[in-house]
Amino acid sequence: MRKPLIAGNWKMNGSLALVEQFGRALADARLSSSVEVAVIPPSPYLAAAQAAFDGTTVVLGAQTVNPEAAGAYTGEVSAPMLAEFGVHYVLVGHSERRSLYQEDDMAVLARARAALEAGLMPILCVGETLDERDAGRTEVVVLQQVKAVFDALDARQRRRLVIAYEPVWAIGTGRTATPEQAQAVHAAIRACLVAYDEKLAASSRLIYGGSMKRENAAELLAQPDIDGGLIGGASLKVDDFIAICQSAG
Ligand code: 13P
Repeated sequence: MRKPLIAGNWKMNGSLALVEQFGRALADARLSSSVEVAVIPPSPYLAAAQAAFDGTTVVLGAQTVNPEAAGAYTGEVSAPMLAEFGVHYVLVGHSERRSLYQEDDMAVLARARAALEAGLMPILCVGETLDERDAGRTEVVVLQQVKAVFDALDARQRRRLVIAYEPVWAIGTGRTATPEQAQAVHAAIRACLVAYDEKLAASSRLIYGGSMKRENAAELLAQPDIDGGLIGGASLKVDDFIAICQSAG
């Protein structure tokens, strides 16, 4: 009942040439319709990506969004602007945004709301640091990040979110959470969603991110509460990304 989502977060990487390479390769790959595939390039490439993925089932995502619709916010991009380029998903609360740009839970919520108002689907990223895991605080930290957003939304809005569990210690480190570690946190998030609504818990997609690659994707995706992946480094190599998409279908 939950269609897996494989989303490639390019972060501040890539080029126009890479967008075009992905457009050709993903069209040729004839990806299974049982998997949803999203590419999340840097925003200057959105127009080119929209053209490159035209005619494919690949959907577009953006890496961040400003809470305001327009105004004097030099350097920022708004949700209505992203919507004009056919953007479907937007990351909010990525750990790099939380740590490098001081985005706290309130800032994450404001971005999620702005995305929802423009008809976009937020991918809410949550995850604990290594210190927090070592202190036995993983669930407390992760569920607090989830609740900070979900408590403030209404039932219809909650249904439009995807949650990405990305342990900070696994991002870009080559150190993946074991399938058991990842499954345990995904199960805890799903159990937390039951408090809002059982149907929400059963239907929400919870995806894993943190050094997911073609070698470990299948066993992570085989876990009962892992409904896809948010891929960083391995989403920049088209063959690897396609292999991960295929292991989800
Ligand atoms: P890596 O796959 O490079 O660890 O990055 C994960 C991530 O942060 C995706 O948003």
